Amino acid sequence: MKVCTTKAETRATLAALRKAGDTIGLVPTMGFLHDGHLALVKAATAECDRVAVSIFVNPTQFGPKEDLASYPRDTDRDLEMLRAAGVDVVFMPSPAEMYHADKQTIVDATALSKILIGKIRPGHFRGVATVVTKLLNITQPDRAFFGKKDYQQLRVIKTMVRDLDMPVRIIGVPTVREADGLAMSSRNVRLTPEDRKAAPVLNKALVMADKLVAEGITAKQLEREVRDRIDAEPRANVQSVDVRDAETVASVGGRITAPVVVLLAVRFGDVLLIDQRVVSPQKGQR
Ligand code: AMP
Repeated sequence: MKVCTTKAETRATLAALRKAGDTIGLVPTMGFLHDGHLALVKAATAECDRVAVSIFVNPTQFGPKEDLASYPRDTDRDLEMLRAAGVDVVFMPSPAEMYHADKQTIVDATALSKILIGKIRPGHFRGVATVVTKLLNITQPDRAFFGKKDYQQLRVIKTMVRDLDMPVRIIGVPTVREADGLAMSSRNVRLTPEDRKAAPVLNKALVMADKLVAEGITAKQLEREVRDRIDAEPRANVQSVDVRDAETVASVGGRITAPVVVLLAVRFGDVLLIDQRVVSPQKGQR
């Protein structure tokens, strides 16, 4: 496994692989890896000849009051995990290597960036879209792999790649969960023991949503039921519960007759957890 800290080295390494005829899969991460990240690596390994992983805690996607400084990091452990997973190339730049001091250019999604999580974290998706564009330009992969856990992020990136004609296929990978249903996240280690015990309420509410939609319900009723279920857990501080069209994340009104995605953003202390589930009415009810 080759570990590169500069763009130039990464480009040269991947160019040589491409020249040899290999296809390349990219898995962008912010490190502090877990089995969710490894599921992306596994999907990339299955679909591509070579796998590159980036580890970069991207400052531009954090707001001034967010957890950039306290975001968990353990590079040695990450590299060990990636080596064991058979990854070919790791790109691990410093912020100074990644960004020019006088950078001028950003990439953003005009509407999609401002709704849902974009309302809670203004500027977040601009940072994500810009850094993913840079990572795609540096590594030039055939495919890039992203988790469905970050549902809106996946939508932003797929839309960006479509709109800007970027020559890459974006692949979404299902959410990997802990045994008690909590979606794996690097941020889970920042939960207090009490909050960690309470946090599986997100998945419980999503499983309940699945049942309610199968029985027949309106989008508004579903949002209320899910919110009430999470509010019943006193440690949970609900930021948003949204039921949206599963494909476009557009608002849906009335009775649910097509697949929808239930999107959750919930704080436990100062840790913001997000989760999602796509739910479909039973065939007879569509
Ligand atoms: P992060 O390091 O949190 O920025 O995540 C890097 C990539 O891993 C993103 O595409 C995430 O959506 C994905 N990811 C994070 N957690 C999970 C999970 N539990 N299951 C599947 N993918 C995940």
